[in-house]
Amino acid sequence: MCIMSEFIASKPNQGEPWDVIVVGSGPSGLTAAIYTTRGAASTLVLGGEKWGGQLMLTTEVDNFPGFPEGIMGPDLMANMRKQAERFGAEFIEKNVESVENINNVFEITAGGETYSAKSIIIATGAATRWLEVDGMEKLIGRGISSCAPCDASFFKGKRVAVVGGGDAAMEEAVVLTKYASEVLIIHRKNEFRASAVMQKKVKDNPKIKILWNSEVIKVIGEDKLEKVVIKNNQTNKEEERILDGLFVAIGHKPESDVFKGIVITDEKGYIVVQNGSKTNVPGIYVSGDVHDYTYKQAVTAAGYGCQAAMEVLKYLQEK
Ligand code: NAP
Repeated sequence: MCIMSEFIASKPNQGEPWDVIVVGSGPSGLTAAIYTTRGAASTLVLGGEKWGGQLMLTTEVDNFPGFPEGIMGPDLMANMRKQAERFGAEFIEKNVESVENINNVFEITAGGETYSAKSIIIATGAATRWLEVDGMEKLIGRGISSCAPCDASFFKGKRVAVVGGGDAAMEEAVVLTKYASEVLIIHRKNEFRASAVMQKKVKDNPKIKILWNSEVIKVIGEDKLEKVVIKNNQTNKEEERILDGLFVAIGHKPESDVFKGIVITDEKGYIVVQNGSKTNVPGIYVSGDVHDYTYKQAVTAAGYGCQAAMEVLKYLQEK
């Protein structure tokens, strides 16, 4: 048992750099801050104007360990933030505008103010790409989701559809068949780009039907999704479908723009990790969905946050 609950990490003196600045305040960034503060590193979280990440947009989270009855996404994030602040993390709700590396002391500007740090953990996450169609935004979390492992169980015996033709769409559809009565994949082309093995899983599953060459052009519902309008892009014919759930799986956009030119990113913008949580720049570490395009779960993001924090503490000690 570790008896250090009253421990609070100190802040740097005026003019001195923070030991670590965590950029981002989803599960990854906040877990990192819990670990760095408990490791006695002065920690500033630049959490963004919309702090909390993707879980702030979800309703009930049933798969985060430790909450047998589930927990609302925003409540989970508020708890993580409180926990990081309890150990002394300073939290600023501003977006990072620029980052400079001056001999491995980092100058980060956010909201017009510049903060310096001996190390950085980039935990900016990735944004779900949603369809840009009428009605979409207000129904996210009200029948529209981007995470079947999180939300499929709310659609027991219901009619749902998935949009997309990649591996994520295939995976979403297969997960949904465990609960939903009907799963329709709506894809804009007449073939999937998903891997052969994932396509086979979908095509072999009798519960899944596919609508080719089709695009959702409108979603309709007051308090929750009621129906969608689908257009066949070959015939231009439009049809309405009654649906209880719509899962959008058209990819994610890693939030790495502000770090481009500072650390190496891949062709899709994901930050390239080298050996654990390191980037190509000593002192800059990365955690969560901004580098992880495989798992994208709150719990894996939190795990990456812990890993990055432990590596930062080692880096600071060696420095
Ligand atoms: P993805 O491979 O980029 O596929 C995105 C899909 O969405 C494509 O089929 C694309 O259509 C469609 N799309 C994009 N914009 C659209 C729009 N505006 N309207 C309608 N459809 C649109 O993304 P992903 O499926 O999220 O996968 C990302 C990466 O993670 C991939 O490397 C994937 O292999 C990996 N992943 C792996 C697994 C697994 O192995 N179990 C699971 C999930 C993800 P087009 O085909 O017409 O371009």
